[in-house]
Amino acid sequence: MARTPAARTPAARTPAAPGAGTGSPPRPPRPLCELTGPVRSRLAVSVGLQTVAALAGVVPFIAVSEIAGRLTTGTPADGDTLWPLVALACAAGLLALACGTAAGALAHIADNDLQLALRRRLARHVGRLPLGRLTDRGTGEVKQAVQDDVSALHTLFAHTLLDVVAVLTAPVLALAYLFTVDWRLALVSVVPLLLGVLLFSRAMAGAAAQMAEFGAALGRISTAAVEFASGIAVFKSFGRGRKAHERFVDATEGFADFFSRWVRTTLVSSTAAVLVVAPAVVLLLLTVVGAVLVTQDWLTGAELVPFLLLGPAVAAPMGVVGPRIQQIRAGQAAAVRITQLLHAPTLPEPATPVLPDGHHVRLRGVTFSYDGRTDVLRDVDLDLAPGTVTALVGPSGSGKSTLASLLPRFHDVTAGTVTLGGADLRDIPATELYRRVGFVLQDVRLLRASVADNIRLGRPEATDEEVERCARAARIHDRVTALPDGYATELGTAVTLSGGEAQRLSIARALLADAPVLVLDEATAYADPHSEALIQDALSALAAGRTLLVIAHRLSTVRSADRIVVLEDGRVTEQGRHDDLVAAGGRYAALWDAQSSSTDDIREGSAR
Ligand code: ADP
Repeated sequence: MARTPAARTPAARTPAAPGAGTGSPPRPPRPLCELTGPVRSRLAVSVGLQTVAALAGVVPFIAVSEIAGRLTTGTPADGDTLWPLVALACAAGLLALACGTAAGALAHIADNDLQLALRRRLARHVGRLPLGRLTDRGTGEVKQAVQDDVSALHTLFAHTLLDVVAVLTAPVLALAYLFTVDWRLALVSVVPLLLGVLLFSRAMAGAAAQMAEFGAALGRISTAAVEFASGIAVFKSFGRGRKAHERFVDATEGFADFFSRWVRTTLVSSTAAVLVVAPAVVLLLLTVVGAVLVTQDWLTGAELVPFLLLGPAVAAPMGVVGPRIQQIRAGQAAAVRITQLLHAPTLPEPATPVLPDGHHVRLRGVTFSYDGRTDVLRDVDLDLAPGTVTALVGPSGSGKSTLASLLPRFHDVTAGTVTLGGADLRDIPATELYRRVGFVLQDVRLLRASVADNIRLGRPEATDEEVERCARAARIHDRVTALPDGYATELGTAVTLSGGEAQRLSIARALLADAPVLVLDEATAYADPHSEALIQDALSALAAGRTLLVIAHRLSTVRSADRIVVLEDGRVTEQGRHDDLVAAGGRYAALWDAQSSSTDDIREGSAR
């Protein structure tokens, strides 16, 4: 042993706790810049190519305008003056095509590499997060980042970026040329753009608040929908079918009201913004004003041509950038979420690794807080001697699951120490820890893989005989052989196991992994007494010779435990054997009485 737990001070620790990784890290300063680092130069080249493409795309219109001017000067135009312009237009058109294609291809290649690099980075990082972070909320967040957010970045970098560059560059050249032709009509051609910006900003005023309300209203509908779907059977069985969908109907009506109010207030200005920059409207405006200028001899007919050709392009950015703003915002929000996940603190690996000497688990002065403010566990001392069964009981929310989760280091303690074989858990390398501490949780996760591979998860090299032996001990072998392909049956596709069967399969998995210390969250609901009996048999097989910590939801498991620990409000208030605790007439005795006088299952809430 390199160091004894007593030799350390909590202050010497890296500040991973409280609840390492449970809170959201602060928003990174420039998430988009940070994420695009490896492909930024390629994105910059593709933006440059797109700029050239956009500018070159305007040249043919300028050439055509020049040709129109030369054809209408009165003197017959000869080939020498016209052909160079035609050649210029063709060359510029080809250049625009080539550069535009190259820009798109390069942006897609850069984006492809970015997606791969980001997904790899995320996978590496998520693999080093504390397991406690990967709760239901955490896994949703990971899925969102790896899948949806990376895709949102694809839209931003491979499409929106180039669209916006094109639509902002071309009008600049077009407008500069129009000013060289006639500054008065050039000014008129800017009017639709300015009006469009004004009307669009009015339509978007308060959009952030409205979007937030929009999201909240949609959230209310989906919550009500889930509630409706999952609760309908209960409501119906109590003859209150109408009640089941009341909340859903309220949520949808609320959404419809909000949406029509929003549409009514913005309808006029947003429609006007779209209309005022529409090519046909701009063309009409320039034709009418241009005709007046021509009749006043302020402009020649040939000079009007470039305005008719290029004028609509000047106002075009409004029509394109407006809708793209949403994509840009979505891309930014995705980048923030990805960087926040990438910045989430990982479980610190020990600087000087220590291997446990034996399997005695000792908690000393353990305090834990998820948020750094409220202590969920306070000053807990507990010993789990090798080969014993310890049951945790107590009211819901008293901290049983939290306490149990400290053993497989789902979280690090805020204060105090948890040691295994004399070594602080934080000093034991993760692979060594998981070889020694296993867990069977209520919410069993089965992989989309064969039954055998699901059992083999903790020890992939195990032989078929070993897998079968553990499946027999876990009382799941008979069910597996009844499956279409026995142990080779793929789970999660054609075959789905019941809750009790999945629990037994996870017990077989734990048996095969053979961790000497095991944390077990006893399932609360078994489908039927037969299934429950099988699970109890499987658990007995699992308990043999192991150090077991059971979160007990029913007292049937507790009675024979070597030690029962009563948790209340994060503190250990009683501990001992069943008979002694009943005789002591304290909290546990009250729990036991409550069980005896009601059902044979004591639910955790009855301790309140
Ligand atoms: P029990 O298992 O006895 O029902 P828990 O350990 O699940 O109790 O919860 C103890 C307290 O910690 C509760 O107040 C609960 O709301 C809180 N808690 C549990 N998990 C988390 C979490 N991931 N983040 C924040 N608070 C949590």
